[in-house]
Amino acid sequence: MSNFDHTRLFLPGPVEVRKEVLEAQTEWMVGHRSVAFAELFERLQGKLKQAFFTESRVYVHGASGTGFWEGASRNGIRNDKKVLHLTGGSFSERWALISEANGKQVDKIQVDWGQAHTPEMVAEALEKESYDAVCVVHNETSTGVTNPVQAIGEVVNQYDDTLFFVDSVSGFLGTELRIDEWGIDIALTSGQKAFALPPGIAFAAVSDRLLERAKQIEYRGYYFDFLSLEKSLLKNNTPSTPPISLMYAADVQMDAILEEGIENRWARHQQMRDTTHQWAIDQGFGLFAQEGYRSQTVTTVHNTIDMDVPAMAAFMETEKGYAMDKGYGKIKGTTFRVPHMGDMQPDTLAEVLAGIEEFMAQA
Ligand SMILES: *Cc1c(COP(=O)(O)O)cnc(C)c1O
Repeated sequence: MSNFDHTRLFLPGPVEVRKEVLEAQTEWMVGHRSVAFAELFERLQGKLKQAFFTESRVYVHGASGTGFWEGASRNGIRNDKKVLHLTGGSFSERWALISEANGKQVDKIQVDWGQAHTPEMVAEALEKESYDAVCVVHNETSTGVTNPVQAIGEVVNQYDDTLFFVDSVSGFLGTELRIDEWGIDIALTSGQKAFALPPGIAFAAVSDRLLERAKQIEYRGYYFDFLSLEKSLLKNNTPSTPPISLMYAADVQMDAILEEGIENRWARHQQMRDTTHQWAIDQGFGLFAQEGYRSQTVTTVHNTIDMDVPAMAAFMETEKGYAMDKGYGKIKGTTFRVPHMGDMQPDTLAEVLAGIEEFMAQA
């Protein structure tokens, strides 16, 4: 380990954060009721709206993405109505649990892990039952599946009373996502995935329709009450103390992202995904996710050749200085994940893949 100044994260979150972004957090504090803070929030807001491709608004909260899961369920689903969750992986299943934990009536379309949800499945469900919202995970980080959000949105948007909720925690800024054009009522994310920020900050692009819905719900909770977030946002402020240091980091990171170009950033992710697929196949591994729906930000490698994943991870950490993923949830070990997200560059990916090959050659 002494060869490396730190263990570099090769994980699908939290991801490696560039020094410039880490250092942005050391700016002197400002009070959150100051003009300086309002300027920071306004500036950041403008950049976030570009990143989400929305004209509406982006809430920023001191939380991980999980917080906005709860916020979406509480502000968007009336207690006497149902919600439809599209489940098939650790994260989509957890979001459904969160709706249930908040007393909501949940129906699910469960697919096998590794499979995607199709617009046809959603159309069939919406013909049978009316729902306050359809909840989909854009990029299921456990299985490496990207769901066809745009096409599912076209189905959901045919129903006036059904809102469209999207978790893009590990998709946002790594794969195409367009809030207004795709008719999304909330797209939520957190900093530590493809955004490449430190953990602790969450973002949600929210539509006017969702705010209208929230007005019809009496008990929305407090910390994630969208009507209260909205009231503050109109003054470039937040109801409670925001994560100011992380917002400095987000501001600096957004500048770098806009300079790279959002579409270029998506393309870089796609290129790294293609490299990873070719590598996995060349080594004799399988790809866990259904063909045609494989994620641009993380590849879940099917460990069909029985590589000793913990031994590989130990080798990579001690010999190469990388912290590796060993799989997630019930498919841990039979799969492992190769992340290719955030500010990762193709040469880093190549270096890590070569390291795994070196391990396999000597194992
Ligand atoms: C990581 C992740 C979450 C949870 O986000 P936190 O920021 O850890 O709360 C939710 N959904 C997906 C798809 C994720 O990858």
